[in-house]
Amino acid sequence: MNLDEEVLARAERIIREGYICDRCLGRQFSTVIEAKNNKQRGKIIKDALRERGVEVREDGTCWICLDFFEELDKWIKKVGEEFREIEFSTFLVGSRLPPEILESEELLWEKYGAEWSESIKLEVNREIGREIASLLKKKVDFSRPDVVAIVDVEKGEVELQIRSLYLGGRYRKLIRGIPQTHWPCGKCKGRGCEECEWSGKQYKESVEELIGEPLLKLTEGKKAILHGAGREDIDARMLGSGRPFVIEIKEPRRRFLDLKKLEEEINKFAEGKIEVEGLTQVSLDFVQLIKEMRHDKTYRVRVSFESEVSHEKLREALEKLSGVVVKQRTPKRVTHRRADKIRERKVYKVSLLSFDTREATLEIKCESGLYVKELISGDDGRTVPNLSSLLSIPAKVLELDVIDAGGLKWQNIMECRKR
Ligand SMILES: [Zn+2]
Ligand SMILES: [Zn+2]
Repeated sequence: MNLDEEVLARAERIIREGYICDRCLGRQFSTVIEAKNNKQRGKIIKDALRERGVEVREDGTCWICLDFFEELDKWIKKVGEEFREIEFSTFLVGSRLPPEILESEELLWEKYGAEWSESIKLEVNREIGREIASLLKKKVDFSRPDVVAIVDVEKGEVELQIRSLYLGGRYRKLIRGIPQTHWPCGKCKGRGCEECEWSGKQYKESVEELIGEPLLKLTEGKKAILHGAGREDIDARMLGSGRPFVIEIKEPRRRFLDLKKLEEEINKFAEGKIEVEGLTQVSLDFVQLIKEMRHDKTYRVRVSFESEVSHEKLREALEKLSGVVVKQRTPKRVTHRRADKIRERKVYKVSLLSFDTREATLEIKCESGLYVKELISGDDGRTVPNLSSLLSIPAKVLELDVIDAGGLKWQNIMECRKR
């Protein structure tokens, strides 16, 4: 091969610096010399120089990589061993090289130029990646790999960064008293105290944990985080077709799941407290999607009145509420965790399901984000209008169920995005 004078002149100056391995020499010319890899490139250059009578050292320790490439096979084996322990389809290899190596490379570039070169990191990552891909029959993915293996040369270990797994579905909450997500103990803030029996939790279980626990067991993941399309009160049930959610499993070591079986496992574990349905694997952007979902809600509410109410008066009041836009200041009970502001939400329809002078059951269809308990009680005039003021009799919610959380199309979105 006839090499350019400029290339050979530069190569000659580089090898005078001290022994340099074929790969490190070849890498400096990766865009100007055609070859299978940098090793072959380096050899071509060295041969050409020898032909011209230049003395080329045969051995020593490479002053750039400190003979790192001699250990490449060892690292490939190590990455392979780590990878065999987990389930994945796509991967990427990254590396942390000792600072001496990177500094030597910088020095070389400063002195002789970097315009034909690629970086040592790039070569290391690519070479290991290529071997692993053929060894394990897996694909390299630069944008969203299931797992990234970081070869940490100084520590002598391979660190795995496993991408979270996201599952979407719908849940029903069939009993009262369970929060949607795990709730740290108010007293100890989760550290554990006598009050919470050292659990660190305000409530023994949550929808998040009831879904998350079987999931963590099956995926061997580290943590499960539930994102719901809104949330119901702790004392409210979530019925009907359920509420859309996405659950994130952090660092899952298993990701090829039988979702039907998983659904059964979760429902068995939850013992009728909650139920899940329609589990589907989704991508990260669904978390945002679900947080932004605003669907009309339908509630069934059991209400009690402080004194007797006539059927007619109640009917009149409910008629007035149907179709009204409610001005609602953030309820007193949530001001400690929600910004204090006034929101406007529409009540579409209030129907009377049953009635008995001091008690009634209502069905309320309204816009997402309306606080229903306050629509009934008035929250000391913070919600206007409200049922109590329309009746001139204080009323309060005894029981609340969400019977339709909307978002049934959610399932369709998941299905079509999967394809
Ligand atoms: Zn080298
Ligand atoms: Zn506590």
